[in-house]
Amino acid sequence: MNKKIKTPPMTHHYKGLIVEPQIRNFFTGRIWSRRETPFPKEKINTYIQHHFFEVLQAVLDKPVRQCRRCLNKNSRKFVSFHCAKCQKICHYCRHCITMGRMCSCDELLLWKNEQPQKTNKSHTFNWQGQLTKNQARAAQELTASILQKNNHLISAVCGAGKTEMLFPAVFEALQLGKRVCIATPRTDVVLELFPRFQQVFPKTCIHAYYGNAPQQQGFAQLVLATTHQLYRFENTFDVMIVDEADAFPYTMDEALEQAVIKAKKKEGPTAYVTATPSAALLSKKTKERWGYSFIARRFHGQPLPIPTFQALWNYEKTFQKGKIPVKLLNWLEQKLAKHEPFLIFFPTIDLMDKAIPLFQQIDASIASVHAEDASRKEKVLELRNVQRKGLLTTTILERGITIKNVQVAVVGAESPVFTASALIQISGRVGRNKDFPNGDIVFFHHGITAEMDLAKKRMLDFNRQPQ
Ligand SMILES: [Zn+2]
Ligand SMILES: [Zn+2]
Repeated sequence: MNKKIKTPPMTHHYKGLIVEPQIRNFFTGRIWSRRETPFPKEKINTYIQHHFFEVLQAVLDKPVRQCRRCLNKNSRKFVSFHCAKCQKICHYCRHCITMGRMCSCDELLLWKNEQPQKTNKSHTFNWQGQLTKNQARAAQELTASILQKNNHLISAVCGAGKTEMLFPAVFEALQLGKRVCIATPRTDVVLELFPRFQQVFPKTCIHAYYGNAPQQQGFAQLVLATTHQLYRFENTFDVMIVDEADAFPYTMDEALEQAVIKAKKKEGPTAYVTATPSAALLSKKTKERWGYSFIARRFHGQPLPIPTFQALWNYEKTFQKGKIPVKLLNWLEQKLAKHEPFLIFFPTIDLMDKAIPLFQQIDASIASVHAEDASRKEKVLELRNVQRKGLLTTTILERGITIKNVQVAVVGAESPVFTASALIQISGRVGRNKDFPNGDIVFFHHGITAEMDLAKKRMLDFNRQPQ
């Protein structure tokens, strides 16, 4: 944090105890496992004795079994076991286990906000870019909704420049002393957004939360977090922005939606940003009269490249026989000859594993990435820096990455993982750069599905919209 900023008094006397700023900064708005705080146990116990925390049982049994952290109530997501700690039958929540196991005899700490955190109001906005007419309109509409505490939906094509549209609204909210959260389902997106926001808001304390994120100092008025990390917040954000809203498995995972609601203050508005809003989100928007912004054009004004379909019959068998299907091979050789970077999407890791050695025989720099791949970031960077010719990938790279002049193929586009949204996002990787607004996107398939048709239709519809 910049030293010149007026900071709140360093300590507060409260019921005889001096509140250390580090503790207040850390716990404000958080719900945290008592066992795993980054502070000495005795210190935490003293604060508990002085009623700074509400101590909550992590898994409740009444009226129904519920995890107090993620609010999961699905009985199938609890596991009963003989607990070594309490020597009884204990229950833990499988749903939020990635945040560390919490069972019936564990406790959560909830900071009691009796003396609310004072927020910084002297933020600066350090962005020299220029919004397009469409972006400026959406930015204005979003800001208006937030000020009116109304929910908002921004539906914008891939490559419309949605992050830039958020800047003015976030700045406005920060200056009013509001605490803002930008939540996104993917760690990659948090990692991509973090340096951009730090640059644009150099005087703002911003934290990024994702699995294994380092400990960060100060009170973050702007939080970038994966949606899973929202389980660790409660009743704290004045404004919630949900980026890539469609990537939420909303229908499958109500608890995650609840996490969004739980992390923000009750009256705090939520803004959803997406290129592929679900029918459920659109209908909610209408029913509840949310603000709405629609952008059918990319920031550079060029239409979306439209995918072509190519049959690749029995591609699985061909790979199994140790061969790359001929049409795909032709496509690959074309891209290599033209020195164009490429992404080839695979429906399963299994098939990709079979394919990768075949591709590496043709060019040793080709690599594969998937969700558990620890060096995913480096590999994408190497593709961007032209150190690699191309990558094979699962749907993990369907969104959030931008590579100049990238060409895209989908192998097995008929497979169920490639929903219309996924295919739109994948196609959205192509032509994002203003110097390379076109590019090749091929859906190689073993039979055309309704989802493939729907994806193509939606993209054609966007291109037909008036600018
Ligand atoms: Zn849970
Ligand atoms: Zn126990």
